[in-house]
Amino acid sequence: MNITDLTISKAHALLKDKKLSVKELTEASLARIKTVDEKVHAFLKVTEKKALEQAQAAQIRFDTGTDVNPLLGIPMSHKDIYCTKGVETTAGSNILKEYIPPYSATVVKKLEAVGAVMVGKTNLDAFAHGASTENSDFGPSKNPFDTSLVPGGSSGGSAVSVASSEVLFSTGTDTGGSIRLPASFTNTVGLKPTYGRVSRYGIIAMASSTDSPGPITKTVEDCALVLSAMAGHDKKDATSSGRLVPDYKTFLGKNIAGFKIGVPKQFFVEGLSKDVEGPVRDAIKKFEELGAKVEEVDLSYMDYALAIYYIIIPSEVSSNLSRYDGIKYGFSVERDAKFKVTDLLSVYGKSRDIGFGQEAKRRIILGTYALSSGYYDAYYKKAQKVSQLIKNDFTKVFEKYDLLLGPVSPTLPFKLGEKSGDPMQMYLADVYTTSMSLAGIPAISVPAGFTRGLPVGLQIIASHFEEGRLLQAAYAFEQATGFFETKPKL
Ligand code: GLN
Repeated sequence: MNITDLTISKAHALLKDKKLSVKELTEASLARIKTVDEKVHAFLKVTEKKALEQAQAAQIRFDTGTDVNPLLGIPMSHKDIYCTKGVETTAGSNILKEYIPPYSATVVKKLEAVGAVMVGKTNLDAFAHGASTENSDFGPSKNPFDTSLVPGGSSGGSAVSVASSEVLFSTGTDTGGSIRLPASFTNTVGLKPTYGRVSRYGIIAMASSTDSPGPITKTVEDCALVLSAMAGHDKKDATSSGRLVPDYKTFLGKNIAGFKIGVPKQFFVEGLSKDVEGPVRDAIKKFEELGAKVEEVDLSYMDYALAIYYIIIPSEVSSNLSRYDGIKYGFSVERDAKFKVTDLLSVYGKSRDIGFGQEAKRRIILGTYALSSGYYDAYYKKAQKVSQLIKNDFTKVFEKYDLLLGPVSPTLPFKLGEKSGDPMQMYLADVYTTSMSLAGIPAISVPAGFTRGLPVGLQIIASHFEEGRLLQAAYAFEQATGFFETKPKL
Protein backbone atom coordinates (compact mmCIF):
# COMPACT_ATOMS: atom_id res chain seq x y z
CA MET A 1 0.00 0.00 0.00
CA ASN A 2 1.28 3.45 -0.93
CA ILE A 3 -0.60 6.23 0.83
CA THR A 4 -0.10 8.60 -2.11
CA ASP A 5 -2.39 6.36 -4.20
CA LEU A 6 -5.19 6.29 -1.64
CA THR A 7 -8.42 8.23 -1.49
CA ILE A 8 -10.95 7.84 1.32
CA SER A 9 -13.08 5.50 -0.74
CA LYS A 10 -10.12 3.34 -1.84
CA ALA A 11 -8.79 3.13 1.73
CA HIS A 12 -12.26 2.26 3.01
CA ALA A 13 -12.53 -0.66 0.59
CA LEU A 14 -9.13 -2.00 1.71
CA LEU A 15 -10.00 -1.61 5.40
CA LYS A 16 -13.32 -3.32 4.92
CA ASP A 17 -11.79 -6.25 3.05
CA LYS A 18 -9.13 -6.57 5.78
CA LYS A 19 -6.38 -5.96 3.22
CA LEU A 20 -5.22 -3.08 5.40
CA SER A 21 -5.52 -2.38 9.12
CA VAL A 22 -6.36 1.01 10.61
CA LYS A 23 -3.03 0.87 12.45
CA GLU A 24 -1.11 0.35 9.20
CA LEU A 25 -2.96 3.22 7.57
CA THR A 26 -2.41 5.54 10.53
CA GLU A 27 1.26 4.61 10.67
CA ALA A 28 1.58 5.25 6.93
CA SER A 29 0.12 8.72 7.46
CA LEU A 30 2.47 9.45 10.38
CA ALA A 31 5.47 8.13 8.41
CA ARG A 32 4.55 10.29 5.42
CA ILE A 33 4.40 13.34 7.70
CA LYS A 34 7.87 12.47 9.00
CA THR A 35 9.33 12.31 5.51
CA VAL A 36 7.64 15.23 3.77
CA ASP A 37 6.47 17.76 6.34
CA GLU A 38 9.85 19.39 6.79
CA LYS A 39 9.62 20.37 3.11
CA VAL A 40 6.04 21.69 3.14
CA HIS A 41 5.26 22.58 6.78
CA ALA A 42 1.59 21.63 6.72
CA PHE A 43 1.48 20.74 10.42
CA LEU A 44 1.74 22.81 13.57
CA LYS A 45 1.31 19.75 15.74
CA VAL A 46 1.28 15.99 15.16
CA THR A 47 -0.81 14.04 17.67
CA GLU A 48 0.76 10.63 17.20
CA LYS A 49 -0.26 9.03 20.50
CA LYS A 50 -3.87 10.12 20.24
CA ALA A 51 -3.98 8.97 16.62
CA LEU A 52 -2.80 5.48 17.49
CA GLU A 53 -5.39 5.25 20.30
CA GLN A 54 -8.16 6.35 17.95
CA ALA A 55 -6.90 3.88 15.35
CA GLN A 56 -7.23 1.03 17.82
CA ALA A 57 -10.79 2.02 18.69
CA ALA A 58 -11.66 2.30 14.99
CA GLN A 59 -10.26 -1.17 14.29
CA ILE A 60 -12.52 -2.65 16.98
CA ARG A 61 -15.50 -1.05 15.25
CA PHE A 62 -14.44 -2.61 11.94
CA ASP A 63 -13.90 -6.00 13.52
CA THR A 64 -17.25 -5.99 15.30
CA GLY A 65 -19.11 -4.37 12.41
CA THR A 66 -20.35 -1.49 14.59
CA ASP A 67 -21.26 1.74 12.76
CA VAL A 68 -18.96 1.22 9.82
CA ASN A 69 -18.98 4.68 8.24
CA PRO A 70 -16.88 5.44 5.12
CA LEU A 71 -14.69 7.68 7.33
CA LEU A 72 -14.04 5.03 9.97
CA GLY A 73 -10.28 4.72 10.51
CA ILE A 74 -9.39 7.37 7.93
CA PRO A 75 -6.48 9.68 8.86
CA MET A 76 -7.40 13.38 8.84
CA SER A 77 -6.05 16.73 10.01
CA HIS A 78 -7.85 19.76 11.42
CA LYS A 79 -7.08 23.38 10.68
CA ASP A 80 -5.66 24.73 13.93
CA ILE A 81 -8.64 27.03 14.35
CA TYR A 82 -10.91 24.12 15.32
CA CYS A 83 -10.86 23.68 19.09
CA THR A 84 -9.68 20.21 20.06
CA LYS A 85 -10.21 19.26 23.68
CA GLY A 86 -6.90 18.81 25.47
CA VAL A 87 -4.86 19.54 22.32
CA GLU A 88 -3.21 22.95 21.87
CA THR A 89 -5.17 25.17 19.45
CA THR A 90 -3.39 28.33 18.36
CA ALA A 91 -5.32 29.75 15.37
CA GLY A 92 -1.81 30.33 13.99
CA SER A 93 -1.30 33.21 16.44
CA ASN A 94 1.21 33.82 19.22
CA ILE A 95 -1.59 35.17 21.38
CA LEU A 96 -3.07 31.66 21.60
CA LYS A 97 0.22 29.80 21.89
CA GLU A 98 -0.18 27.01 24.46
CA TYR A 99 -3.93 27.53 24.66
CA ILE A 100 -5.55 24.18 25.47
CA PRO A 101 -9.31 24.21 24.81
CA PRO A 102 -11.56 22.58 27.42
CA TYR A 103 -13.93 21.32 24.70
CA SER A 104 -13.94 20.31 21.02
CA ALA A 105 -15.69 21.98 18.09
CA THR A 106 -18.90 20.29 16.98
CA VAL A 107 -17.28 19.28 13.67
CA VAL A 108 -14.35 17.72 15.50
CA LYS A 109 -16.79 15.73 17.63
CA LYS A 110 -18.86 14.67 14.64
CA LEU A 111 -15.80 13.38 12.80
CA GLU A 112 -14.59 11.64 15.94
CA ALA A 113 -18.00 10.04 16.31
CA VAL A 114 -17.81 8.44 12.86
CA GLY A 115 -14.34 7.15 13.74
CA ALA A 116 -12.01 9.30 11.63
CA VAL A 117 -8.50 9.45 13.10
CA MET A 118 -6.97 12.86 13.86
CA VAL A 119 -3.22 12.87 13.22
CA GLY A 120 -2.61 16.56 13.85
CA LYS A 121 -3.41 20.25 13.53
CA THR A 122 -2.54 22.26 10.45
CA ASN A 123 -1.00 25.65 9.77
CA LEU A 124 -2.96 28.75 8.79
CA ASP A 125 -2.70 32.51 8.50
CA ALA A 126 -3.17 33.77 12.08
CA PHE A 127 -6.91 33.86 12.84
CA ALA A 128 -7.49 32.89 9.17
CA HIS A 129 -6.60 36.39 7.98
CA GLY A 130 -4.81 35.88 4.71
CA ALA A 131 -4.45 34.12 1.39
CA SER A 132 -1.01 32.49 1.59
CA THR A 133 -0.31 31.18 5.18
CA GLU A 134 2.47 33.77 5.40
CA ASN A 135 0.53 35.50 8.19
CA SER A 136 1.03 32.45 10.40
CA ASP A 137 3.11 33.30 13.47
CA PHE A 138 4.74 29.88 13.09
CA GLY A 139 6.17 30.21 9.56
CA PRO A 140 4.47 29.63 6.21
CA SER A 141 3.43 26.36 4.60
CA LYS A 142 4.88 25.61 1.15
CA ASN A 143 3.24 24.56 -2.08
CA PRO A 144 4.06 20.87 -2.71
CA PHE A 145 4.13 21.47 -6.50
CA ASP A 146 6.95 24.00 -6.02
CA THR A 147 8.15 24.72 -2.50
CA SER A 148 9.27 28.25 -3.42
CA LEU A 149 5.58 29.12 -3.88
CA VAL A 150 2.72 29.71 -1.43
CA PRO A 151 0.02 27.04 -1.09
CA GLY A 152 -2.76 29.64 -0.74
CA GLY A 153 -4.55 30.43 2.48
CA SER A 154 -5.77 30.71 4.98
CA SER A 155 -6.40 26.94 5.21
CA GLY A 156 -3.04 26.36 3.49
CA GLY A 157 -1.73 23.75 5.91
CA SER A 158 -4.92 21.73 5.53
CA ALA A 159 -4.75 21.77 1.73
CA VAL A 160 -1.04 20.91 1.76
CA SER A 161 -1.59 18.00 4.17
CA VAL A 162 -4.06 16.52 1.65
CA ALA A 163 -2.11 17.39 -1.52
CA SER A 164 1.06 15.86 -0.02
CA SER A 165 -0.85 12.68 0.96
CA GLU A 166 0.01 13.13 4.63
CA VAL A 167 -3.70 12.58 5.40
CA LEU A 168 -6.69 11.60 3.28
CA PHE A 169 -8.78 14.64 4.18
CA SER A 170 -8.70 17.83 6.19
CA THR A 171 -11.01 20.47 7.57
CA GLY A 172 -10.78 24.14 6.66
CA THR A 173 -12.73 27.30 7.14
CA ASP A 174 -13.77 29.72 4.41
CA THR A 175 -14.76 33.25 5.36
CA GLY A 176 -13.81 34.88 2.06
CA GLY A 177 -12.09 32.12 0.10
CA SER A 178 -9.87 30.30 2.57
CA ILE A 179 -10.90 26.79 1.53
CA ARG A 180 -11.28 27.42 -2.20
CA LEU A 181 -8.03 29.31 -2.76
CA PRO A 182 -5.64 26.79 -1.17
CA ALA A 183 -7.56 23.95 -2.87
CA SER A 184 -7.05 25.63 -6.25
CA PHE A 185 -3.32 26.20 -5.53
CA THR A 186 -2.69 22.58 -4.51
CA ASN A 187 -4.84 20.57 -6.98
CA THR A 188 -7.24 19.45 -4.25
CA VAL A 189 -11.02 19.68 -3.92
CA GLY A 190 -12.25 22.34 -1.47
CA LEU A 191 -15.87 23.08 -0.68
CA LYS A 192 -17.25 26.14 1.06
CA PRO A 193 -20.74 25.07 2.13
CA THR A 194 -23.78 27.30 2.46
CA TYR A 195 -23.49 29.54 5.55
CA GLY A 196 -25.25 27.60 8.32
CA ARG A 197 -24.87 24.15 6.71
CA VAL A 198 -21.96 23.25 9.02
CA SER A 199 -21.79 24.26 12.69
CA ARG A 200 -19.33 26.99 13.68
CA TYR A 201 -19.43 26.00 17.35
CA GLY A 202 -15.95 25.63 18.81
CA ILE A 203 -14.22 27.12 15.79
CA ILE A 204 -12.29 30.27 16.69
CA ALA A 205 -14.31 33.07 15.12
CA MET A 206 -12.94 35.22 12.34
CA ALA A 207 -16.04 36.97 10.92
CA SER A 208 -19.14 35.32 12.35
CA SER A 209 -21.51 36.32 9.52
CA THR A 210 -19.56 34.46 6.82
CA ASP A 211 -17.38 31.84 8.60
CA SER A 212 -18.06 28.55 6.80
CA PRO A 213 -16.33 25.32 7.86
CA GLY A 214 -15.86 22.75 5.09
CA PRO A 215 -13.81 19.83 3.74
CA ILE A 216 -10.62 19.63 1.68
CA THR A 217 -10.12 16.28 -0.08
CA LYS A 218 -8.38 14.60 -3.01
CA THR A 219 -11.56 13.84 -4.98
CA VAL A 220 -15.15 15.01 -5.31
CA GLU A 221 -16.44 11.67 -4.06
CA ASP A 222 -14.39 12.07 -0.88
CA CYS A 223 -15.69 15.62 -0.53
CA ALA A 224 -19.27 14.32 -0.59
CA LEU A 225 -18.44 11.76 2.10
CA VAL A 226 -16.80 14.27 4.43
CA LEU A 227 -19.47 16.93 3.95
CA SER A 228 -22.18 14.39 4.82
CA ALA A 229 -20.38 13.79 8.13
CA MET A 230 -19.66 17.47 8.91
CA ALA A 231 -23.03 19.03 8.08
CA GLY A 232 -26.15 19.32 10.17
CA HIS A 233 -28.02 21.31 12.76
CA ASP A 234 -26.32 22.15 16.03
CA LYS A 235 -28.24 23.69 18.85
CA LYS A 236 -25.01 25.29 20.03
CA ASP A 237 -24.80 27.40 16.85
CA ALA A 238 -27.90 29.55 16.49
CA THR A 239 -27.15 30.20 12.81
CA SER A 240 -26.86 26.53 11.89
CA SER A 241 -29.63 25.28 9.64
CA GLY A 242 -32.25 22.71 10.61
CA ARG A 243 -32.56 21.41 7.05
CA LEU A 244 -32.02 17.71 6.68
CA VAL A 245 -28.59 16.73 5.40
CA PRO A 246 -28.90 14.66 2.23
CA ASP A 247 -26.53 11.79 1.54
CA TYR A 248 -24.35 13.81 -0.82
CA LYS A 249 -22.95 10.69 -2.44
CA THR A 250 -26.29 10.00 -4.10
CA PHE A 251 -25.77 13.02 -6.37
CA LEU A 252 -22.61 11.61 -7.91
CA GLY A 253 -22.70 9.98 -11.33
CA LYS A 254 -25.92 11.70 -12.37
CA ASN A 255 -25.96 13.28 -15.79
CA ILE A 256 -25.56 17.04 -16.07
CA ALA A 257 -26.96 17.31 -19.61
CA GLY A 258 -29.53 20.09 -19.73
CA PHE A 259 -28.03 22.03 -16.80
CA LYS A 260 -28.23 25.76 -17.34
CA ILE A 261 -24.92 27.32 -16.44
CA GLY A 262 -24.08 31.01 -16.17
CA VAL A 263 -20.62 32.51 -16.57
CA PRO A 264 -20.46 35.95 -14.92
CA LYS A 265 -18.81 38.38 -17.30
CA GLN A 266 -17.35 40.18 -14.26
CA PHE A 267 -14.96 37.24 -13.88
CA PHE A 268 -13.19 37.74 -17.19
CA VAL A 269 -11.67 41.16 -16.87
CA GLU A 270 -8.25 42.75 -16.73
CA GLY A 271 -6.39 41.26 -13.82
CA LEU A 272 -7.30 37.69 -14.64
CA SER A 273 -4.04 36.06 -15.69
CA LYS A 274 -4.02 34.22 -19.04
CA ASP A 275 -2.38 31.34 -17.17
CA VAL A 276 -5.63 30.84 -15.27
CA GLU A 277 -8.06 31.98 -17.94
CA GLY A 278 -6.89 29.29 -20.41
CA PRO A 279 -7.71 26.25 -18.23
CA VAL A 280 -10.93 27.89 -16.95
CA ARG A 281 -12.18 28.54 -20.51
CA ASP A 282 -11.33 24.94 -21.42
CA ALA A 283 -13.28 23.78 -18.39
CA ILE A 284 -16.31 25.77 -19.46
CA LYS A 285 -16.11 24.11 -22.91
CA LYS A 286 -15.98 20.74 -21.19
CA PHE A 287 -19.29 21.49 -19.48
CA GLU A 288 -20.81 22.21 -22.91
CA GLU A 289 -19.48 18.90 -24.19
CA LEU A 290 -21.15 17.25 -21.20
CA GLY A 291 -24.47 18.67 -22.39
CA ALA A 292 -24.83 21.78 -20.23
CA LYS A 293 -26.18 24.97 -21.74
CA VAL A 294 -23.70 27.76 -21.00
CA GLU A 295 -24.47 31.48 -21.23
CA GLU A 296 -22.80 34.69 -20.11
CA VAL A 297 -24.54 36.40 -17.17
CA ASP A 298 -24.26 39.83 -15.61
CA LEU A 299 -23.76 40.20 -11.86
CA SER A 300 -23.03 43.89 -11.83
CA TYR A 301 -22.61 44.37 -8.07
CA MET A 302 -19.94 41.69 -7.92
CA ASP A 303 -17.40 44.37 -8.83
CA TYR A 304 -17.88 45.87 -5.36
CA ALA A 305 -17.58 42.61 -3.42
CA LEU A 306 -13.91 42.89 -2.51
CA ALA A 307 -14.22 46.48 -1.27
CA ILE A 308 -17.32 45.63 0.75
CA TYR A 309 -15.75 42.49 2.15
CA TYR A 310 -12.76 44.45 3.46
CA ILE A 311 -15.09 46.71 5.42
CA ILE A 312 -17.55 44.16 6.82
CA ILE A 313 -15.04 41.46 7.68
CA PRO A 314 -12.51 43.66 9.58
CA SER A 315 -15.47 45.15 11.48
CA GLU A 316 -16.45 41.70 12.70
CA VAL A 317 -12.81 40.74 13.22
CA SER A 318 -12.23 43.76 15.48
CA SER A 319 -15.18 42.70 17.59
CA ASN A 320 -14.26 39.00 17.70
CA LEU A 321 -10.64 39.67 18.62
CA SER A 322 -11.57 41.89 21.57
CA ARG A 323 -11.86 38.79 23.77
CA TYR A 324 -8.07 38.27 23.60
CA ASP A 325 -7.24 40.65 26.38
CA GLY A 326 -4.31 38.95 28.08
CA ILE A 327 -6.60 37.71 30.85
CA LYS A 328 -9.05 35.12 29.57
CA TYR A 329 -7.10 33.11 27.00
CA GLY A 330 -3.58 32.31 25.93
CA PHE A 331 -0.64 34.68 26.14
CA SER A 332 -0.44 37.26 28.93
CA VAL A 333 2.33 39.63 29.97
CA GLU A 334 0.97 39.31 33.50
CA ARG A 335 2.18 35.73 33.78
CA ASP A 336 5.77 36.62 32.90
CA ALA A 337 7.75 38.67 35.40
CA LYS A 338 10.13 39.89 32.71
CA PHE A 339 7.46 42.27 31.37
CA LYS A 340 7.07 43.98 34.75
CA VAL A 341 3.45 44.86 33.98
CA THR A 342 1.00 45.05 36.83
CA ASP A 343 -1.83 47.49 36.09
CA LEU A 344 -4.82 46.16 34.19
CA LEU A 345 -4.82 48.46 31.17
CA SER A 346 -1.16 47.77 30.53
CA VAL A 347 -1.82 44.03 30.76
CA TYR A 348 -4.49 44.40 28.06
CA GLY A 349 -2.41 46.68 25.86
CA LYS A 350 0.94 44.97 26.11
CA SER A 351 -0.45 41.41 25.79
CA ARG A 352 -2.29 42.43 22.63
CA ASP A 353 0.69 44.33 21.29
CA ILE A 354 3.00 41.36 21.68
CA GLY A 355 0.47 38.59 20.99
CA PHE A 356 -1.19 39.85 17.80
CA GLY A 357 0.63 39.95 14.47
CA GLN A 358 0.58 42.81 11.98
CA GLU A 359 -2.41 41.62 9.97
CA ALA A 360 -4.65 41.15 13.02
CA LYS A 361 -3.69 44.64 14.18
CA ARG A 362 -4.39 46.07 10.75
CA ARG A 363 -7.87 44.53 10.77
CA ILE A 364 -8.60 45.68 14.31
CA ILE A 365 -7.74 49.24 13.29
CA LEU A 366 -9.71 49.10 10.02
CA GLY A 367 -12.69 47.49 11.74
CA THR A 368 -12.92 49.82 14.72
CA TYR A 369 -12.61 52.75 12.33
CA ALA A 370 -15.46 51.51 10.11
CA LEU A 371 -17.63 50.90 13.18
CA SER A 372 -16.83 54.16 14.99
CA SER A 373 -19.81 56.45 15.45
CA GLY A 374 -18.65 59.11 12.99
CA TYR A 375 -17.95 56.64 10.18
CA TYR A 376 -20.46 53.84 10.78
CA ASP A 377 -23.02 55.13 8.26
CA ALA A 378 -20.45 55.97 5.62
CA TYR A 379 -18.64 52.62 5.79
CA TYR A 380 -20.20 49.75 7.69
CA LYS A 381 -23.85 50.55 6.99
CA LYS A 382 -23.21 51.36 3.35
CA ALA A 383 -21.21 48.17 2.94
CA GLN A 384 -24.10 46.17 4.40
CA LYS A 385 -26.48 47.73 1.87
CA VAL A 386 -24.22 46.90 -1.06
CA SER A 387 -23.76 43.39 0.33
CA GLN A 388 -27.55 42.99 0.11
CA LEU A 389 -27.43 44.09 -3.54
CA ILE A 390 -24.79 41.43 -4.22
CA LYS A 391 -27.07 38.83 -2.61
CA ASN A 392 -30.02 40.03 -4.71
CA ASP A 393 -27.94 39.68 -7.89
CA PHE A 394 -27.25 36.04 -7.05
CA THR A 395 -30.89 35.34 -6.15
CA LYS A 396 -31.99 36.70 -9.51
CA VAL A 397 -29.45 34.79 -11.52
CA PHE A 398 -30.26 31.51 -9.76
CA GLU A 399 -33.90 31.86 -10.79
CA LYS A 400 -32.69 31.09 -14.33
CA TYR A 401 -29.48 29.13 -13.90
CA ASP A 402 -28.53 25.98 -12.00
CA LEU A 403 -24.89 26.86 -11.48
CA LEU A 404 -22.24 29.47 -12.19
CA LEU A 405 -18.66 28.83 -13.31
CA GLY A 406 -15.48 30.85 -13.02
CA PRO A 407 -11.92 31.02 -11.75
CA VAL A 408 -11.01 30.74 -8.05
CA SER A 409 -7.84 32.79 -8.13
CA PRO A 410 -6.82 35.55 -10.56
CA THR A 411 -3.25 34.16 -10.72
CA LEU A 412 -1.24 30.97 -10.40
CA PRO A 413 0.32 30.24 -6.97
CA PHE A 414 2.75 33.09 -6.28
CA LYS A 415 6.23 33.21 -4.74
CA LEU A 416 6.68 33.18 -0.98
CA GLY A 417 7.35 36.80 -0.04
CA GLU A 418 6.01 38.20 -3.31
CA LYS A 419 2.92 39.81 -1.80
CA SER A 420 3.43 39.57 1.94
CA GLY A 421 4.71 43.15 2.20
CA ASP A 422 1.76 44.59 0.29
CA PRO A 423 -1.64 43.93 1.89
CA MET A 424 -3.58 45.34 -1.08
CA GLN A 425 -1.91 42.87 -3.46
CA MET A 426 -2.66 40.05 -1.04
CA TYR A 427 -6.32 41.10 -0.72
CA LEU A 428 -6.67 40.99 -4.52
CA ALA A 429 -6.18 37.22 -4.37
CA ASP A 430 -9.73 37.11 -2.93
CA VAL A 431 -11.36 38.95 -5.82
CA TYR A 432 -13.25 35.87 -7.13
CA THR A 433 -14.23 34.33 -3.81
CA THR A 434 -15.61 37.05 -1.53
CA SER A 435 -18.96 37.67 -3.25
CA MET A 436 -20.15 34.09 -2.55
CA SER A 437 -19.09 34.48 1.08
CA LEU A 438 -21.10 37.69 1.46
CA ALA A 439 -24.10 36.00 -0.18
CA GLY A 440 -23.72 32.87 1.99
CA ILE A 441 -23.92 30.52 -1.01
CA PRO A 442 -21.91 27.31 -1.57
CA ALA A 443 -18.96 27.09 -3.96
CA ILE A 444 -16.34 24.47 -4.72
CA SER A 445 -12.84 24.51 -6.19
CA VAL A 446 -12.12 21.50 -8.35
CA PRO A 447 -8.84 20.70 -10.21
CA ALA A 448 -9.05 22.11 -13.75
CA GLY A 449 -5.60 21.60 -15.21
CA PHE A 450 -2.08 22.98 -15.10
CA THR A 451 -0.11 25.89 -16.48
CA ARG A 452 3.66 25.37 -16.49
CA GLY A 453 3.19 22.54 -14.00
CA LEU A 454 1.11 24.58 -11.54
CA PRO A 455 -2.48 23.72 -10.67
CA VAL A 456 -5.51 25.83 -11.60
CA GLY A 457 -8.87 25.42 -9.87
CA LEU A 458 -12.30 25.86 -11.39
CA GLN A 459 -14.95 27.44 -9.18
CA ILE A 460 -18.48 26.08 -9.38
CA ILE A 461 -21.12 28.10 -7.53
CA ALA A 462 -24.68 27.19 -6.57
CA SER A 463 -27.64 28.65 -4.74
CA HIS A 464 -28.22 28.17 -0.99
CA PHE A 465 -28.23 24.52 0.13
CA GLU A 466 -27.55 23.21 -3.39
CA GLU A 467 -24.35 21.43 -2.38
CA GLY A 468 -25.74 18.25 -3.97
CA ARG A 469 -25.98 19.85 -7.39
CA LEU A 470 -22.54 21.40 -6.94
CA LEU A 471 -21.02 18.01 -6.20
CA GLN A 472 -22.92 16.42 -9.09
CA ALA A 473 -21.41 18.90 -11.56
CA ALA A 474 -17.95 18.80 -9.96
CA TYR A 475 -17.95 15.01 -10.15
CA ALA A 476 -19.01 14.95 -13.81
CA PHE A 477 -16.21 17.40 -14.65
CA GLU A 478 -13.62 15.55 -12.57
CA GLN A 479 -14.46 12.20 -14.14
CA ALA A 480 -14.35 13.68 -17.65
CA THR A 481 -10.94 15.29 -17.10
CA GLY A 482 -8.98 13.43 -14.40
CA PHE A 483 -6.74 16.37 -13.40
CA PHE A 484 -6.94 15.32 -9.75
CA GLU A 485 -4.73 12.35 -10.54
CA THR A 486 -1.63 14.49 -11.01
CA LYS A 487 0.32 14.45 -7.74
CA PRO A 488 3.16 16.69 -6.60
CA LYS A 489 6.61 15.08 -6.65
CA LEU A 490 7.87 15.33 -3.10
N1 GLN B 1 -8.10 35.93 2.23
C1 GLN B 1 -9.32 36.34 2.84
C2 GLN B 1 -9.02 37.25 4.01
O1 GLN B 1 -7.89 37.44 4.28
C3 GLN B 1 -10.15 35.16 3.23
C4 GLN B 1 -9.89 34.64 4.58
C5 GLN B 1 -10.76 33.47 4.95
O2 GLN B 1 -11.60 33.01 4.18
N2 GLN B 1 -10.59 33.01 6.17
O3 GLN B 1 -9.89 37.76 4.63
